[in-house]
Amino acid sequence: MRCKDVQRFLTGGFEAGAGDGPASEAQAHLDGCPACAAYAADLAKIRDGVRALPRRELPAAVDARTRQAIAAAR
Ligand SMILES: [Zn+2]
Repeated sequence: MRCKDVQRFLTGGFEAGAGDGPASEAQAHLDGCPACAAYAADLAKIRDGVRALPRRELPAAVDARTRQAIAAAR
């Protein structure tokens, strides 16, 4: 794997269910590439930061209208 392939893998650009081939190839690359390892660490910090944000609920009326619009589009 090249750096751009690893970065695409880390950001979810690979199809789910592709087996663990891509994951083990990406890990092998990360073990030997400081730039991609730093990229992966930054992504992990961003993901942790987003998870730590307070969850905000939609106003009930907006939630109901959104659900109706989704149901109507099916
Ligand atoms: Zn790399």
